[in-house]
Amino acid sequence: MTRIDSSKVSRWDLHGREHVVRVRRTGAQRTLSCDTCGWRRAAQFLPWLKAEEHLAEAHQATVDPTVA
Ligand SMILES: [Zn+2]
Repeated sequence: MTRIDSSKVSRWDLHGREHVVRVRRTGAQRTLSCDTCGWRRAAQFLPWLKAEEHLAEAHQATVDPTVA
């Protein structure tokens, strides 16, 4: 079984560096914040998808360490 940590999304980039976007609940919304660059965004739906998009676009980090 895969363990899912719903409070953060982490991906590795091509250089093996880990990038983490944290997901915080704020009322009905969730707030995303990136440890690497300080990017922040509120997302009501699919915050993890938005986090993955940011990691891929901003950091070219697309490798899911929990899948490897
Ligand atoms: Zn970032």
